[in-house]
Amino acid sequence: MEAGLTTPDKGILMVVSAPSGAGKTSVCREVLKEFPEIRFSISYTTRPRRPGETEGIDYFFVPEEEFRRRIGAGWFVEWTEHFGYYYGTSRRTLEEALNRGCDLMLDIDTEGAKKIREAFPEAVFVFILPPSMEILRERLEKRGSEQPEALEKRMRKAYNEIREVFRYDYAILNDRIPLAVERLKSVYIAEKCRSERLKDSINKVFGLEESNGKNHR
Ligand code: 5GP
Repeated sequence: MEAGLTTPDKGILMVVSAPSGAGKTSVCREVLKEFPEIRFSISYTTRPRRPGETEGIDYFFVPEEEFRRRIGAGWFVEWTEHFGYYYGTSRRTLEEALNRGCDLMLDIDTEGAKKIREAFPEAVFVFILPPSMEILRERLEKRGSEQPEALEKRMRKAYNEIREVFRYDYAILNDRIPLAVERLKSVYIAEKCRSERLKDSINKVFGLEESNGKNHR
């Protein structure tokens, strides 16, 4: 007979938001490396590919016309516009993966996360924080890709996003990447251990529903 608890039928959807420059990509990447069973949900975007980015790994890069057509067809569970480019998440990809029992990590902005919460209320919401606004500014400046005006715009946007942190289940401070990675891993492991998620499996393994606990009290 098979022993132990099996994984739940439905996958966990872990939604991760952070202001640009908080180090979300590095933290998520490390966690995904250590937990290859978590699949990363790849968004669709109309923004040009940056150096080092790969089609189908970082994003699916699509022409604007195609993106608009998909919006019209109700293809996206959520979509948004950032600095003149569209970003969106495919509803079907999420549903299919979760129904197959696949755990998914979704990297999304705070507005997108709100829409995901409406469509997938059982998802786990995680916010990654930079150590401070000053350090966030330094990090964005160091990137060097920002014109001063764009930098101020990003800083204002970051502040407004951070105000949303209390809508999230977890807040992870990224003061040092290895620490933030440990924190995010802990969230995932804790969520995997939720008794509710393991209910069917626990009932089966320990025969709780059949005996109603009478035999073993
Ligand atoms: P970037 O252009 O720097 O890759 O991303 C800009 C912003 O778009 C980030 O805050 C990122 O989290 C957000 N983003 C990426 N994919 C999606 C998506 O599918 N939907 C939404 N709403 N935001 C996204």
